[in-house]
Amino acid sequence: MMQLECDIAIIGSGAGGGVIAKELAPLCRKGLKVLLLESGPYVTREYFDQTEENMTRLYWDRGGTQTKDGAMTIAQGRCVGGSTTFFTGTTFRMPQHVLDKWNVPDLTLDDLKPRYQRIEEELSVHELSDQYINKNNRYFKKGMDHLGWSGGPLRINTSKACKPYGYCNLGCASGAKQGTMEVQIPKAMSQGVELIPNCHVTKIGERELWARVTPAPKGTHPNHHPQGDYHIRARVVYVCAGAVRSPALLLKSGLPVMSPMLGRNITFHPAMIVYGIHSEQIDGHQGFPKAYYCDEFSKTNRYLLETCFYYPFVAAKNVGAWGDEEKEVMANYHRLMAILILHHDDVFPHNRVRTKGEKFVVDYKIDAAMIKSLTEAQIASAEIFFEAGCESVVVPASSKLIVSRDERKKLREYVSEKNMLLNKVTITSAHPQGGCGMGQDVAYSVVNSYGQVHGHPWLFVMDASVYPQCIEINPYLTIMALADRSAEFVRGNVEKLLL
Ligand SMILES: Cc1cc2nc3c(=O)[nH]c(=O)nc-3n(C[C@H](O)[C@H](O)[C@H](O)COP(=O)(O)OP(=O)(O)OC[C@H]3O[C@@H](n4cnc5c(N)ncnc54)[C@H](O)[C@@H]3O)c2cc1C
Repeated sequence: MMQLECDIAIIGSGAGGGVIAKELAPLCRKGLKVLLLESGPYVTREYFDQTEENMTRLYWDRGGTQTKDGAMTIAQGRCVGGSTTFFTGTTFRMPQHVLDKWNVPDLTLDDLKPRYQRIEEELSVHELSDQYINKNNRYFKKGMDHLGWSGGPLRINTSKACKPYGYCNLGCASGAKQGTMEVQIPKAMSQGVELIPNCHVTKIGERELWARVTPAPKGTHPNHHPQGDYHIRARVVYVCAGAVRSPALLLKSGLPVMSPMLGRNITFHPAMIVYGIHSEQIDGHQGFPKAYYCDEFSKTNRYLLETCFYYPFVAAKNVGAWGDEEKEVMANYHRLMAILILHHDDVFPHNRVRTKGEKFVVDYKIDAAMIKSLTEAQIASAEIFFEAGCESVVVPASSKLIVSRDERKKLREYVSEKNMLLNKVTITSAHPQGGCGMGQDVAYSVVNSYGQVHGHPWLFVMDASVYPQCIEINPYLTIMALADRSAEFVRGNVEKLLL
């Protein structure tokens, strides 16, 4: 077993780990050794060929990690940059009512606001100018406005280099999308943080961890460390492996006196994608996929609608049918409008991440309340499509998959909860959260508001797993702001922590 030693080891390089690496990088100038350990390869934009075949290799399980009952798949990146290599860059600040619901004693929006501001500037967050708004987005706004529903333009993190090719979720080939691989990690490395890609951490002990380095896949940056098993001593350890994998790693590690809430309080924003078939050519796959959201039903029916568009395999998988019906929808790919439904799920004791030998299992039940919300959201999306000029809509929770404009009045007859057949309709999550929730008390939370694990001052968690409940908006910005806050705490207490 090869040996390494460092002052701070960061496990995972996504929204949490990437920001921690950058914000702790100034410590390298003071002589501290900081390692950034990433399970996936280091691949930069030259490698991004935008094919589903190649790019989904950079996701865990090709983007289809399943919950135990198979009713939902979870998409998370496995490469330098983590899921931020594939995010669309939709940027929201946490609303006050969510912070109130979280009820983390010393966390306030006054503290987070300047951090949001700084990160948004660093990532060029802005509303898209007219030239980037394609018909799918334009018509969504038209539909929403006709119905008089609330919503507005999304703020997106892209630089001026945005082409826009439209395949953002397969990695940004123009390098415009501002994930940690493009922004924070190069800054961290230039100040001395050492990135070790293809390095999968298997276990954490008291100020030590075990990892395996595997060969760099063809077409990715070469490794600087020989392949094999490593034992790494670290005086401070940051677990930033993402929701699901951070709690799973900690559970597997079996550290003493961990909170009973480890692996609990998980949420996912269960999502569905629905289509309208327009009379005109829409070409939603060209141009920037996301420009508007509708929050009319966010409080009452607990979902948010956003524009979206996907490449052929993912588009087909979301139709919610096979055979001739799916063929009919996909034959109209160039005329499709698409809406992403994001449900605001609650925490339940039966939902959790647990370990099974070397592996982990995600127990998650899509319950009646979620089914109701997702069904209502399909009806609302269909109304937007019709107002936007679609000839028909494709509704998975319906006794009739394709509902024509003439049948619009019958929508509520066709689309119902009883037709929302789990494991037939496609439910996905790109926003896993929780499992190492923040709070004050070890009985109810795993970490404090700085991500420091209760009872283990040398151990921090900083990623989406620290969310105590779902955030109800796209999550990355708050992960980064919390990471900024956590790193500031570590910089301010470094002598004490490194003892
Ligand atoms: C397709 C897609 C689109 C999205 N769009 C948006 C959007 O528009 N706006 C938004 O706010 N959010 C979006 N998100 C969600 C957002 O990207 C995530 O919430 C965020 O990146 C989560 O950050 P994280 O640090 O928790 O985890 P991640 O970013 O997933 O990073 C975790 C990292 O840890 C690594 N890792 C895991 N286990 C180990 C291990 N044992 N050893 C070493 N490394 C390990 C992983 O490989 C990964 O690189 C999107 C996500 C996806 C997948």
